[in-house]
Amino acid sequence: MKIDILTLFPEMCDNVLGESIIGRAREAGLVEINCHNIRDYSTDKHKHVDDTPYGGGTGMIMQAQPIYDAYMDLTKHGDIPYHLIYMTPQGKTLTQERVKELSKLDNIAILCGHYEGVDERVIEELAPEEISIGDFVLTGGEIPAMALVDSVCRMLPGVLRNEDAFSKESHYDGLLEYPQYTRPPEWMGREVPEVLLSGHHENIEKWQMEQALERTKERRQDMYDKFVQN
Ligand code: SAH
Repeated sequence: MKIDILTLFPEMCDNVLGESIIGRAREAGLVEINCHNIRDYSTDKHKHVDDTPYGGGTGMIMQAQPIYDAYMDLTKHGDIPYHLIYMTPQGKTLTQERVKELSKLDNIAILCGHYEGVDERVIEELAPEEISIGDFVLTGGEIPAMALVDSVCRMLPGVLRNEDAFSKESHYDGLLEYPQYTRPPEWMGREVPEVLLSGHHENIEKWQMEQALERTKERRQDMYDKFVQN
């Protein structure tokens, strides 16, 4: 998979995505991630990329031209179909289901807005999929893009050590995950549930399923109802 990020802060993205599991996946060639600076495409002699909003109001709006030219440069060979995503609090909230679908694509391009947002005309022209990471507002699309890239990359074959690592995890199959424990068996007077020390795989799996159901019912009635309906 190839992911291209269009941003005013490419170092921020490169640094975050150079660490830990995603950093190793990039090194191993499991995913190619390129961070492009939208400012490089500004035709303004001072390399401006934003201006004040028409109609007044505070803050700055990213201009259409540099964003459009950056995306055109990326796709100029025309042989690779890109799926363009714009990170915006006005988009559809990201779900694990959508993450799974996106992880099957070959080429994703992600546009990060900044300041007060982006000139609407470039959104109309490029018609991206609009994705939000939740009902709150950040200063820029970089952190949302990192969240998206991280969640998509960990679904790629070979990125996590085995598929079990995500197939039992929260949201993968519509449930929250059961509680997890590691050594020591007793900490501050709290013991690890006995069944987990028993080595009896069937009982362990049964316990984990019960816990996952209980947890989901307690914390996310909406998910629980959907799960038992299916
Ligand atoms: N004025 C805009 C918000 C701009 S926030 C509005 O009211 O809709 C600046 C940039 O941060 C946006 O262009 C977007 O790229 C990013 N951003 C902020 N919150 C986000 C969220 N919850 N999900 C995804 N992107 C977000």
